[in-house]
Amino acid sequence: MDHVETIEDQGEFFTVKTTTQEFSATRIVLAIGLKETLPDIPGLSSLYGQSFFNCSFCDGWEMKDKKLGVIIEQEEFILHFVPMIFHWNQTITVLTNGISVNKEIKQRLNEKKISLIEQPIQKITNQGVYFISDTKKIIDGGFVMPTFSVNTSFIQGFSLSLNEWSYRYGRLRTDFLSTYLCSLR
Ligand SMILES: Cc1cc2nc3c(=O)[nH]c(=O)nc-3n(C[C@H](O)[C@H](O)[C@H](O)COP(=O)(O)OP(=O)(O)OC[C@H]3O[C@@H](n4cnc5c(N)ncnc54)[C@H](O)[C@@H]3O)c2cc1C
Repeated sequence: MDHVETIEDQGEFFTVKTTTQEFSATRIVLAIGLKETLPDIPGLSSLYGQSFFNCSFCDGWEMKDKKLGVIIEQEEFILHFVPMIFHWNQTITVLTNGISVNKEIKQRLNEKKISLIEQPIQKITNQGVYFISDTKKIIDGGFVMPTFSVNTSFIQGFSLSLNEWSYRYGRLRTDFLSTYLCSLR
């Protein structure tokens, strides 16, 4: 498959070199997607897209009557992510994989009868979540918050800025309707 290897700013136009060809362009639209990095938990990547998902709007309905684990390793995102899934499903266990969460979060989860397990996870399989403490939680699947990044290393001679969520989502800042589509010039 042909692959863009470099984009160079030549002033009036851009030079785009791919694995096999070279183009000139006055406009560039980057549609290169995001790279997802999942928490480093054995078994998770093989369940991702099957019984574990990142988007409650995309897969919340299909998971609505199931026992869910929600893996979030960043404390600050728990009260953002969990309420979105709560619309579809109230049988939720938040799994922090060893991260301790503060009292306010614990209280808010407790008010909604959402379980919280802060133990480090040893592995995840179709049978459930196994903790290094030798205990197990049976779940049917769930949601996970990956970290996202954008690979713009092939762009040369100019820089692209990331938006205010970039430390988490890695999205490109745009100057056009705030979409994720980025038109240079
Ligand atoms: C498990 C899972 C479930 C999802 N479910 C849904 C859903 O139900 N509904 C929904 O709307 N969305 C869903 N999504 C999200 C959806 O898949 C993405 O939002 C969508 O694929 C993004 O499209 P894109 O074209 O921006 O990026 P991508 O689909 O990532 O496409 C980018 C393309 O650019 C190519 N590329 C990158 N760099 C270069 C280069 N240098 N040269 C040439 N090509 C390059 C990549 O190879 C790739 O083919 C889901 C995502 C996941 C992971």
